[in-house]
Amino acid sequence: MEKVSEEKPNSKGRLPTWTLQDFEIGKPLGRGKFGRVYLAREKKHKYIVALKVIFKQQLEKHNLHYQLRREIEIQSNLSHPNVLQIFGWFHDDERIFLILEYAARGELFKELRDLKYLSEKHAATYIASFARALAYCHEKNVIHRDIKPENLLLDLEGRLKIADFGWSVQSRTKRHTMCGTLDYLAPEIVENKAHDYTVDNWTLGILCYELLYGVPPFETESQVNTCKRIIKVDLNFPSTPHVSAEGKDLIRKLLVKDALKRLSLQRIVEHPWIVNNADPSGICNEGH
Ligand code: ATP
Ligand code: MG
Repeated sequence: MEKVSEEKPNSKGRLPTWTLQDFEIGKPLGRGKFGRVYLAREKKHKYIVALKVIFKQQLEKHNLHYQLRREIEIQSNLSHPNVLQIFGWFHDDERIFLILEYAARGELFKELRDLKYLSEKHAATYIASFARALAYCHEKNVIHRDIKPENLLLDLEGRLKIADFGWSVQSRTKRHTMCGTLDYLAPEIVENKAHDYTVDNWTLGILCYELLYGVPPFETESQVNTCKRIIKVDLNFPSTPHVSAEGKDLIRKLLVKDALKRLSLQRIVEHPWIVNNADPSGICNEGH
């Protein structure tokens, strides 16, 4: 599908805009904080997309209107195989519609729930894709991330796609609190201290652990206790034979309290566990 946005004139010098009439709407794909996502087909080119519908009233209530606009602009300028593409957007009186690349296999965490835990090859393939996508974004000075499990999607072939890219740091803590999951928060966020893009490296460590063991490392029955464990970096590895010493080594080098000492994205992709396990194609179909 052509990438057109309201800002860019087409070849005739007109400003092309999408409308809802350009799409056939299919099944619901998911539900987010501010709206719903539907499978959709662009009528003219028969191109399958995901249409994310956000209610303006909801956005305004949470004061995220301008933020969304800025983030759409940022995301429109990103082009990476592991970053979910945004093709364009339009709006009517009540709603904003984002035209997104369709991630046919849905949430990575649905796959994880089905398989219970992933093999090292499978997990390393996702972690490598994720680290490369983050490096690309950091290079473009896009560092405001809100990595959380349900925002990691898979395309038809099983390639990792980061969705919801670019929600800003200010809203991170609030959004997590609203969603009720603290497992992915870095200690500096839990302690309400200054933080920067190195929180992403911490998050990669949490993700790596959860993919390999099926549960996040600091999970407890209560939020207070989870926070305590995060702050102490109370890290234990279950004695399961399917995780090698190298895998644990990578996790230990990411789940480091001192943000400056966390392994850099570059060093992550060079880590022996990644080199020995990740599929260079970024696709791993184990369990399918
Ligand atoms: P946020 O995570 O910022 O709160 P949100 O939760 O409102 O945003 P999304 O995460 O974008 O909205 O979408 C909600 C759910 O819809 C996702 O978790 C996923 O299951 C599904 N979904 C979203 N985008 C796509 C897509 N492009 N392809 C397939 N499924 C999608
Ligand atoms: Mg989401």
